[in-house]
Amino acid sequence: MLIASVHALDDELGRHGGRLVIRSGDPADALRALVTETGATDLYFNADVSPYADRRDSHVRARLNNQLEIHTSYGNLIQEPGAVLTKKGGLSQVFSAFHRTWVNTPLPMLPEPGKGRPVASVGSEALPAAEPSRLVAGTDAAYERLQIWNEQVDDYETSRNLIGDTTTSRLSVDLKFGTLGPRTILAQIGTHTPGRAAFIRQVAWRDWWAHLMVYHPDISRSAIRPAYDRIAWEQDDDGFERWATGTTGFPLVDAGMRQLVATGWMHGRLRMICASFLVKDLLIDWRRGERFFRHHLLDADPPQNAGNWQWVAGTGPDAAPYFRIFNPVTQSKKFDKDGDFIRAWVPELAKLPSPAIHEPATLAPLDLVALDVVLGRDYPAPIVDHANARQRTLIAYRAALDDGELA
Ligand SMILES: Cc1cc2nc3c(=O)[nH]c(=O)nc-3n(C[C@H](O)[C@H](O)[C@H](O)COP(=O)(O)OP(=O)(O)OC[C@H]3O[C@@H](n4cnc5c(N)ncnc54)[C@H](O)[C@@H]3O)c2cc1C
Repeated sequence: MLIASVHALDDELGRHGGRLVIRSGDPADALRALVTETGATDLYFNADVSPYADRRDSHVRARLNNQLEIHTSYGNLIQEPGAVLTKKGGLSQVFSAFHRTWVNTPLPMLPEPGKGRPVASVGSEALPAAEPSRLVAGTDAAYERLQIWNEQVDDYETSRNLIGDTTTSRLSVDLKFGTLGPRTILAQIGTHTPGRAAFIRQVAWRDWWAHLMVYHPDISRSAIRPAYDRIAWEQDDDGFERWATGTTGFPLVDAGMRQLVATGWMHGRLRMICASFLVKDLLIDWRRGERFFRHHLLDADPPQNAGNWQWVAGTGPDAAPYFRIFNPVTQSKKFDKDGDFIRAWVPELAKLPSPAIHEPATLAPLDLVALDVVLGRDYPAPIVDHANARQRTLIAYRAALDDGELA
């Protein structure tokens, strides 16, 4: 998707008489050479909150700022880090308070595109060949997706938690690759109906996690609330493998994980359910899950992924208290009521009616056989007893917190 998006950008520049120049190597060296070759006087680039991007950009700034004017802006966020602060001047640790200030913060000015002038022809490496991408890449396709969503967004408040492919915008991939800017989304969707306001509130979560990463650059590696780094996680490789391959015996979790690996996509509510299952039912370190999601999600983005994993694990700010543990079967009955999503991704259970499809073991073995299912042969028996797993997790979290209080 990344390479396809870069090709689409090159095509788009071509329509304006330009093109991308590709150079590999140390970014400061490559840019310095290009500045000399073109006589450029200004350098514009998009800032990013991840520690890797921050190191790269600081390096470029340090090496080039006596040579030309450097301008950066956070085009990939609605508000820049540091713009939405508490009265005491810090970042709110509670999202709803952040959001109240966020909606009243004036939008920052972005640089206007200049006139552009032809430059001497400069050499470029070839773009790597684009592999088929899972979404049509580029801004034209992204705008079309935004227009379609603009017709549906008014139902967002009631539909957003239902697991399906059209109940949310699926614009996170465009946000990730920059084929849509969040301010373009805000301008198009607005906040004038409850559905639109609820949707834009979600986009504000994205700003919040990004701002938070500036204060906690280590967010993918350590708990924001350090006491939780004392949890005695299980080193359960078999459990992790079953979670990752969608064979836990909990149908909705399995459906979600299979969809993720096959398509790079998972609905937001389902991300919470699958993440919670790994952490709270299997007591496996959230960092293992965070890495797995980062590897598979098309929209994988360090602050969003790590922030949400910490939210689910209860180790970050504004997280639900650790003792509130999702019941994967109750969630399944609520958000995939008829079991259609499960049927699509766990075909071995396709003949089971709802509600049994959410919990196949509730059917007698003979009834299951009549529906072509033998548990343990066609579909796994549940990997854990949820009530026991819940108790184990509560004890482990409590012990970590007690140790923290003693330390
Ligand atoms: C464990 C876990 C991992 C996640 N990893 C990522 C990730 O790597 N990248 C990513 O973009 N989102 C991530 N999310 C957040 C959220 O699930 C996705 O942004 C959302 O599901 C994308 O689908 P959508 O565009 O249809 O969302 P919609 O419901 O249409 O929401 C619109 C936009 O609001 C933003 N948004 C919505 N929910 C959240 C949220 N909880 N946190 C931050 N922003 C949000 C997204 O930019 C999204 O595109 C994760 C959530 C969880 C629970």
